[in-house]
Amino acid sequence: MRVYKFGGASVKDADAVKHVGEILSKFGGEDLVVVVSAMGKTTNALEKVVEAYYNKTDDPFKLLEVVKVQHYELIDELFEDGNAIKASVNDLFVEVEWVIEDEVHDSYDYVYDQIVSTGELVSTRIISAYLNEIGYENEWLDIRDIIQTDNTYREGKVDWELTLANAQSKIPTILKNKKRAVTQGFLGVTSENHTTTLGREGSDYTAAILSYCLDAEGMSIWKDVPGILTADPRRFKNVTKIDRLSYKEAIEMTYYGAKVIHPKTIKPIQNKNIPLFVKSFLDPEGAGTVISGDLELNYPPVVVVEPNQALLHISTKDFSFVAEDHLGKLFTLFAKHRLKVNMMQNKAISFSVCVKNAPYRINKVMEEMKDEFHVVKDSGIELITVRHHQDALVESLKENKIVLIEDRGKSTIQMVLRPISKLQPINEEG
Ligand code: ADP
Ligand code: ASP
Ligand code: MG
Repeated sequence: MRVYKFGGASVKDADAVKHVGEILSKFGGEDLVVVVSAMGKTTNALEKVVEAYYNKTDDPFKLLEVVKVQHYELIDELFEDGNAIKASVNDLFVEVEWVIEDEVHDSYDYVYDQIVSTGELVSTRIISAYLNEIGYENEWLDIRDIIQTDNTYREGKVDWELTLANAQSKIPTILKNKKRAVTQGFLGVTSENHTTTLGREGSDYTAAILSYCLDAEGMSIWKDVPGILTADPRRFKNVTKIDRLSYKEAIEMTYYGAKVIHPKTIKPIQNKNIPLFVKSFLDPEGAGTVISGDLELNYPPVVVVEPNQALLHISTKDFSFVAEDHLGKLFTLFAKHRLKVNMMQNKAISFSVCVKNAPYRINKVMEEMKDEFHVVKDSGIELITVRHHQDALVESLKENKIVLIEDRGKSTIQMVLRPISKLQPINEEG
C-alpha cells in the first residue's frame, strides 16, 4: 500500500479539488491512504475563532461564518443541489457553535484542538464525497479511530503501540473493501476520546505515522513546489531543485526549520526505509525529490531562514559564571514553557539563546528567571542556517545585517542576524 498527502494549498478551492481528483484518478491506483489537510488557510481562520472566543477580542460567530460560507460555496461548486454533504458539513460546524455559545471553562490549548480540528474534518468529508462522485471509490476514515496521543493539546505525542495496533486492525479491511481511505492529517485522540492536534503543519507527520504503521511501499506529499529546493522560493530567486536527499540530510534541513516538510516526518519512514517522494501537484508528471537511503551525496548549499526570532541574553545576578547548575535550571524552564532553543552561545558570565519570538511563552520564562538571572531580550532578528556553505553565499546573506552570534561547523553555519537600514547621505541642498 502507499500513502499520499495533500496539503492546504492543493485543496484551496473547487478547481484545486477537481485537480486532486485528476491526480488521484491518474496516479492514485488502489491500496492507497489519502491524507488531507484543511482547505487553504482554514486553520488560520479557525485559530482566529478560538482567539476571539477565548479572549473575547472579537465575535467568534462572525469569524466562523466566514469559514462556513467558504465551505458552502465550495460544496455548491462541486456538487448538485441537495447533496447530503452539506448537511454533514453543517453538523460539524454546529458542534463548533455549541462550544462557542458556552462560557470558557477549559484550557486554551484544549479548546483550540476541539475547534481547529474542524478544518480537517470538513475538508475530508467534502473531498471523500467528491472523489466518490467522480468514481474514485473510497471510504472516509476518522483518523481519531487510529492515532492515539497523550493529552498535550496542540502538540499531541503519539502512542505508537496503540496507534500501530489500531492502524493494522482497521485500515487493511477498508482498503480491501473500498480500495482507498481518505482521512485527516494533523489530528489525534486521547484515551478519554478528546481530539488533539499534532502541531501546526502536522499533516505530513500523519502521513508518515500511517506509512510506518502500514509498512507502506512509498509515501508521496504533493506540494506547490517542484520538490525540495535549495531555499524557500518565496524568499530567494535562483533556487534549484534537489533530486535526491538522504533521510539524514532531510532531517537536518527540517530540524533547522525548512518549512517544506514537518520536522517529525522523516524519522518514522527512515526507521522502515520507506521512500518519501516530494511531488508537485502543479506538475504531477515531474520527478520531484526522492528522500531515501543513507548514502551521503554532494549537496549544493541549502539556506533555511527562521524569521521572527528573539535572542535572550542571560547572566547571573550574583556575578557568578553561568555554570552547569544554572544551565540545568534554564533548560528545565524552557522545556516547561515549550520554548524551543534554536541556537545558543555560552560565555563566562552570560548565556545567549535564540528562540522563536513567542511573547507569551518568553514572558512566562522570564518571570520565573527574574529572581536569579538578569535577562535582556533582543527581538526583530532572524536565524539563518546554511548547510554545505560556501563563503560568497554566506557573505551575501550577511549584507546589510549585523551578526549577533555565529556558529560555524563543518557542514552547517548558523547566524543570528539583525537587519540594519542602509544609511542614506543627506543631500546638502536638503
Ligand atoms: P502543504 O500545504 O503541503 O503543507 P507547505 O505550504 O507547508 O505545503 O509547504 C510548501 C511550501 O514550503 C512552499 O510553498 C515553499 O514556499 C516552502 N518552502 C520552504 N523551504 C522550502 C524548500 N527548501 N524547498 C521547497 N519549498 C520550501
Ligand atoms: N491544517 C494544519 C495547519 O495548517 C495542518 C497541516 O496543514 O499540515 O497547520
Ligand atoms: Mg504544510
